[in-house]
Amino acid sequence: MPSLPGLRRYLVVLGLFGALSAGVVLVQAEGLATLLTGGGVGLALIVAVALRVPLTLALGVVTGRFAAGAQAGLRLRLLGSSADAGVVTTQVTRGVDATTAYLTGYLPALVASVLVPVAVVVLLFSADLTSALIVVATLPLIPVFAALVGARAKARTERQWALLTRLGGHFLDAVRGLPTLKLFGRARAQAQHVRLMADAHADATLGTLRVAFLSSLVLELVATLSIALIAVPIGFRLLNGSLTAHTAMLVLVLAPEAYLPLRALGAKFHAAAEGLTALREALATPLRARRGGTATRPVGPPEIEFRGVSVHYGEVAALSEVDLVVGRGEHVAITGPSGSGKSTLLAVLLGFVEPSEGKVLVDGVDLRELDHAAWLRDTAWLPQRPTFFSGTVAENITLGSAGDVRSAARAASLEDVIAELPEGHATRIGELGAGLSAGQRQRVGLARALARTDAGLVLLDEPTARLDRRTEQAVLDGTRALLPGRTALFVAHHPALVAAATRTVPLVSGRVPLGVR
Ligand code: ADP
Ligand code: MG
Repeated sequence: MPSLPGLRRYLVVLGLFGALSAGVVLVQAEGLATLLTGGGVGLALIVAVALRVPLTLALGVVTGRFAAGAQAGLRLRLLGSSADAGVVTTQVTRGVDATTAYLTGYLPALVASVLVPVAVVVLLFSADLTSALIVVATLPLIPVFAALVGARAKARTERQWALLTRLGGHFLDAVRGLPTLKLFGRARAQAQHVRLMADAHADATLGTLRVAFLSSLVLELVATLSIALIAVPIGFRLLNGSLTAHTAMLVLVLAPEAYLPLRALGAKFHAAAEGLTALREALATPLRARRGGTATRPVGPPEIEFRGVSVHYGEVAALSEVDLVVGRGEHVAITGPSGSGKSTLLAVLLGFVEPSEGKVLVDGVDLRELDHAAWLRDTAWLPQRPTFFSGTVAENITLGSAGDVRSAARAASLEDVIAELPEGHATRIGELGAGLSAGQRQRVGLARALARTDAGLVLLDEPTARLDRRTEQAVLDGTRALLPGRTALFVAHHPALVAAATRTVPLVSGRVPLGVR
């Protein structure tokens, strides 16, 4: 299992903080003992007390920063993983958030719970042997009891987490299949099923909480009894004069400090357990194989060659031995009936689908050897059904790059659409483009392609499908404006769009007919 990047350095920094706070505890105890036995307020005591707050604040900043960075990395990793969508959804949202308690609470407490008791015991040994021996004998009871209760809690946490992940996957499936379920009148039964699973999860959560409270109680009890074991003999020895008041005070102030970090650790354990389980799972999810190689190509329109490309989806042959050369700056219209493999051809060129046989050459270089991300950056693509994310129209057009929304919108004849929207291009739209009509979505998709002003390759999949006549004309104009100076492949039915091409290639059942090249 790969570990969290930067974890070792984080632990070292936590160690420094732990050592500092151990020092503060010792100096403070010594100062308090002196103060309480009539020695006055020492400078060391003032410094130690004054240091506590900035130390806690600084630790908060350090842990918060590390957690934020680590979680961003985890989310990226999960989104690039090949795990099931439902699992990824649960992990990216709940799971990664749950690691906060582990990273910012449990780990610092774990480091402190080693360093502080050791420092306290060392000082106790030099001050009073008997008390030191009692602390050494009783201190291990806390982790022992914690482990006993913890073993039970662990099983429960894992069950709780497994339930939640399954719930996420099931819920996603149910929502995806909702239209079908509704059609067959099964929606109610599914809702019942989701409710049952949610109830099971709630029960599991309550069970975990019960164990957590029980364990706190046990640990408090052990610590309190241990301190009583130390305090009672000290009282007697003070009475018969075999112990100075200063030493007695020092031991009484110091002894609880040895138990405190361990008790705090026990209290944080249960909150952290869920995070640790989630962290393990997130790090164990298999990464999707990285697409593409490292080769780069110069900017500008590419020359493309399909060489004997076949694509099989199981039994279905979507493309069969396609040979096709698209020259630099050429505009090729792909035509053919539905299911003839047009979208698959574009998907191969985008690197989303690997040819089962044959290869695609870009300027003579195998597409598989190109840096895939760079190749996509150099491509303006309008898919058959553009995908949207929740955000403003402008954000949906630029997709985070520095494209010029206004000129892209103008070129896609989107201006009148944007003018109709309540807040112009700052209008928020939902996932799946909620709030936009099919035609508007198509034009936002086209504007997205048009915003890629420096793309050398243009790929459009039926840009004029599902449009009314007026919009169709607007999209046609926008598409024609996109073509000059670039290599373009577009799937087209509309005669005007086909006419915009320099060449037409028909696809028939995944084949380019003989004679067409
Ligand atoms: P077109 O865009 O010309 O309508 P496609 O390229 O979408 O054609 O599909 C070509 C063939 O491949 C069709 O028979 C289709 O059912 C099949 N196909 C497309 N995508 C997949 C897929 N992801 N899994 C299985 N079969 C697919
Ligand atoms: Mg298609």
